Amino acid sequence: MEYNILDHSHDHAKEIVVVNWLLGTKCNFSCSYCPSWLHEGEVGWPNNYHKWPSRSVQDVQEFIFRAIKHYAPKKIYFEFTGGEVTLWKDLIPLAKFIKEKNATVGIISNGTRPPRWWRENKQYFDHVCFSYHSEFSNAEKFLNVIKEVNGEFRTHVNIMMNPDKWDECIMLAERIPKECHNISLALQPLMEGLGEEETVFPYTDEQQEVLDRQHHLYGKHIKWNTNFPVPRGAMEMINTNTNKKEISSAHRLIANKVNDWSDWDCYAGLENLVIDWDGEVWRGWCREGGSLGNVYNEIKLPYKPVRCTKTFCHCNFDIMCKKENIDENY
Ligand code: SF4
Ligand code: SF4
Repeated sequence: MEYNILDHSHDHAKEIVVVNWLLGTKCNFSCSYCPSWLHEGEVGWPNNYHKWPSRSVQDVQEFIFRAIKHYAPKKIYFEFTGGEVTLWKDLIPLAKFIKEKNATVGIISNGTRPPRWWRENKQYFDHVCFSYHSEFSNAEKFLNVIKEVNGEFRTHVNIMMNPDKWDECIMLAERIPKECHNISLALQPLMEGLGEEETVFPYTDEQQEVLDRQHHLYGKHIKWNTNFPVPRGAMEMINTNTNKKEISSAHRLIANKVNDWSDWDCYAGLENLVIDWDGEVWRGWCREGGSLGNVYNEIKLPYKPVRCTKTFCHCNFDIMCKKENIDENY
């Protein structure tokens, strides 16, 4: 469909700024499909930055406070990734700080902290995306963690579908709808280098069919009795000339190769923000518009959208912010 605005399909997302923050690269796993730089711990956590000892949690807090003021009245959702961020001893104090400032917090975790840790700390999270990595995780322990938190905050589980451990992954996919509730579930096909390369792992036809029918087989059987607000979701394509509208997902836009918004005005930097392992702040992972500064140094947060010069927008996160092409032809 021809359109000139891509916007969030639900109003809640329009009121939320999402900050995607790669806090550090230390992990207790070393998955064979994970690039070594992402788990070997070369980059310590913000308060233990061996290369730049002057960087502190106070810098992080000051940036957070500043961002909250800059984007008000919109609320900020901070989403921390690593490495395994639950290994950082200051994660919980930081999450507390953010919640006190009336913003929300989410993390991506491999779920190896024991249920007791989640019981003590679940109040500080609004969302956790758990990933099951069969080379290192234990399915029984993983399930116990999910059962501890399901229904407490928005919970998503990604089962990383390792062809070498296929039966174990399927066993987990079968048990989750029977034993857990209020979670969303995805059987994730593995990409070499976790997506750094475009090669998908080799799956048999039978395995591919399971991946294609995963919602029907597993996802739709999960029981829900509560609703959690979702900061990002489907996008709406709008033609302001004809008033035609059509909903699509970022995933589908990529799959259909209709992810070129060059010469459009993009609200990355106004609705999304990205902070890399070194504290450098960008509008999106595309790095369009250049660096906005560094958390541990000077920073200038934007007030205007950026004109896109890229010929494709490569990740779901970057796609999920408003883009518009308003000219006299529309
Ligand atoms: S758990 Fe995640 S960060 Fe850690 S090694 Fe595995 S893929 Fe990499
Ligand atoms: S590549 Fe960057 S600037 Fe271009 S549309 Fe995507 S997020 Fe926006």
